[in-house]
Amino acid sequence: MLSSPVKPQNYKTDVEIDWCPGCGDFGILNALILALQELKIPNQNVVLTGGIGCSSKIPHYVNVNAFHSLHGRSLVHAEAVKIANPDLEVISAAGDGDALGIGSAHFVAAGRRNVDLTYMIFDNGVYGLTKGQASPTLPFGEMPKSLETENIKFPVNPIFLGLASGFTFVARSYSYNIKHLKETIIRAIRHRGLAMIDIMQPCVTYNNINTKEYYDGRLYDIEKEGWNPLAENENEYREKVGQAVIKSLEWGDRIPMGVFIEYKTETYDQKLKRLIPDYGVRNYVFDPIEKNGKPLQDITEMMQSFL
Ligand code: SF4
Repeated sequence: MLSSPVKPQNYKTDVEIDWCPGCGDFGILNALILALQELKIPNQNVVLTGGIGCSSKIPHYVNVNAFHSLHGRSLVHAEAVKIANPDLEVISAAGDGDALGIGSAHFVAAGRRNVDLTYMIFDNGVYGLTKGQASPTLPFGEMPKSLETENIKFPVNPIFLGLASGFTFVARSYSYNIKHLKETIIRAIRHRGLAMIDIMQPCVTYNNINTKEYYDGRLYDIEKEGWNPLAENENEYREKVGQAVIKSLEWGDRIPMGVFIEYKTETYDQKLKRLIPDYGVRNYVFDPIEKNGKPLQDITEMMQSFL
């Protein structure tokens, strides 16, 4: 599936795309490809992971190293790839149900590490692949056409949770604003640390409430209204993250988008480097594990300690 040359090639694959016509996922795919083209990252240097859901088909449609993993596990697989191969550019895709339902524990744990990767959450309020059940971000009291009763659970706020979990880059964008989304993806990829983008992505088949028309009149850019998300030290971060949390609570006639926080601090690979001096120099992934059919490591002692 990979193009071999060093120079970036076409980032689109010829795999047939089976998203519903008009789905917001198309905008995300286009914005991601435009971002990769602009950054000129060679195809073979990019890894794109997915979980399970409509969103997680995206690794099949982008001509890079692709990994279609398990429900809720896109992010942990991405972390593992990046930790093992720090030179690769790693991007993870997940739906809101994937990321904030079954994957919520991984989401919170990832914030404690600050692995240098980009996490794109396709946020449409429903589990589209399984016929539109309420997902963790569906607002309380809403009843899209796929439900028989109104939603009686309170929603998870991805921006609030991202800030509370310690993500060092937290943003919201919109699948039908490809220019904004492309630029946000570029900023997230350039950010050294764990970056998440909560992407408003209308599901045209099951969610007839949070539609393009719904978002078009409500989304506004906080950075165009004077918000500066950059925090260069811990004091600035503490001050800004508090203000960003308050901004994240707004949801109604106006919905904020843009970058809420961008904090420059030590990444997980920098912390690992302190513990393992040759981390990033020697790539353990390529270490031989056997010679002439015999394992190079003798694990007999370790196995006996278990017994
Ligand atoms: Fe998109 Fe919804 Fe169709 Fe899934 S079910 S492809 S999210 S429109």
